[in-house]
Amino acid sequence: MKKERPHRGKGSASQQPPAHADPEIFESDLGFDQLGLPEHVLRGIRDLGFEKPTLIQGRLIPAAMAGRDVLGQAKTGTGKTAAFGLPLLARCDPSVPFQALILAPTRELAVQIADEITELGRHGRVTVDTVMGGERIKTQASRLKKGANIIVGTPGRVMDMAQRGLYHFDNVRFTVLDEVDRMLDIGFREDIRKILNNCPKDRQTMFVSATIAGEIEKLARTFMRDPEKIVTSGASLTVNLVEQHYLAVNPWDKKKLLLHLLTHEEPAMTIVFCRLKKNVDMLAKYLGEKGIDVHAIHGDMRQGKRNRVIQQLREGELTVLIASDLASRGIDAEGVSHVINYDLPEDPDLYVHRIGRTARAGRRGIAWSFVTSAQGNLLTNIEELINREIPKMDYPDFIPGPRPESWRDESPGGIVFPTGPEAPKVNRYDAAVNPDMPAVAAGPIDSARFPGGNVPTRMPPKRMMGRIPSNRR
Ligand code: AMP
Repeated sequence: MKKERPHRGKGSASQQPPAHADPEIFESDLGFDQLGLPEHVLRGIRDLGFEKPTLIQGRLIPAAMAGRDVLGQAKTGTGKTAAFGLPLLARCDPSVPFQALILAPTRELAVQIADEITELGRHGRVTVDTVMGGERIKTQASRLKKGANIIVGTPGRVMDMAQRGLYHFDNVRFTVLDEVDRMLDIGFREDIRKILNNCPKDRQTMFVSATIAGEIEKLARTFMRDPEKIVTSGASLTVNLVEQHYLAVNPWDKKKLLLHLLTHEEPAMTIVFCRLKKNVDMLAKYLGEKGIDVHAIHGDMRQGKRNRVIQQLREGELTVLIASDLASRGIDAEGVSHVINYDLPEDPDLYVHRIGRTARAGRRGIAWSFVTSAQGNLLTNIEELINREIPKMDYPDFIPGPRPESWRDESPGGIVFPTGPEAPKVNRYDAAVNPDMPAVAAGPIDSARFPGGNVPTRMPPKRMMGRIPSNRR
């Protein structure tokens, strides 16, 4: 079999110039000067070198300028921040503090949004500040006394500071939820509800994400007034500029395969995603010991360290970043050439967000996903969501190791499957991993638990109503 090497060598993916002509991303007929934005905002856009609006910008900005509520869905890396940020810069009154509230799921994303809007607004008088955990409340409170017009924050801290009476929401005329599907999922929902219910009813509301499932859209609409729904993602949720492949691998070989890829392919700047924080630490240690220049980020790390890592990523100073899903949404670093899903995410939406860290703003990128024999259905779910087949990438010069005696197979959700040589091959990926290996291995099938030998390959949907403490992010 011929080994496929989609892109090889340092910088192959990241140094492509932005393709302003790419009709999958950019408006071909519209200029920024046709969107109703004032001159001081247009100057900021020119300074950042944006030549043409992206599709989401071309449609969302005029609707927002007309005062409409909007629910916007666009592919990752196609300029959603400026799509909601530019109308805010145009419509906020610089003399009124805390007029716009933007909520984001992570501190890193909140900082990034604040930075981009500040840059775009450099020729006007509208000011931006952040409110989020990881910094002392006192420090934030005294900064807020300066009266920033736009506050970008994470829900917990925004609510906390309001409850302490450090500000009120009475002046808020604009609310934005970035990554709205994440913001309205169970972890944040109550804070969001409280915050939005505290904002004036006649405000303008903008919700955006790359993925918005039907259920979430229904819920989102309860916070909006007759929103205009704008979808620019077209037939597939992922951009064509990201080349996606999966690599079939035995679970015990994953570390070795990752090391092999990093040393043989020499990707320019790679983010490796893991499901668990402990895997992030384990991999960072393993690769570090093998001489790879590796950094790590997850939610248990100190904020100062997290900030430094993101800063280095954005400045193109990292080679390999091992990350939890903390870094899967929104983070914009133009030099990311490769994303590797070391652990396939259980939630297919997360796949879209993770691989969206590459191939941004018209650049090229590469996404590789490790798929073990128990994960065939997860891969299928992802393919169904993104509406495209992810081809297999063969890697014949990687020699798989023998199964360690102590190895215990785990399902994607962490359940140990009772298995046996007679276990059925349940999907096309099982055979792809290792034709000699049954879909689930070692040990007899427990016929009391799995009558008829029908061993499940995927977890049942969420159990315990989400009350089991999660190890993720
Ligand atoms: P976002 O999806 O908002 O994170 O944006 C992705 C990247 O595209 C960021 O680096 C933006 O600065 C950049 N960007 C946003 N709008 C444009 C545009 N119209 N032209 C070129 N780059 C853009």
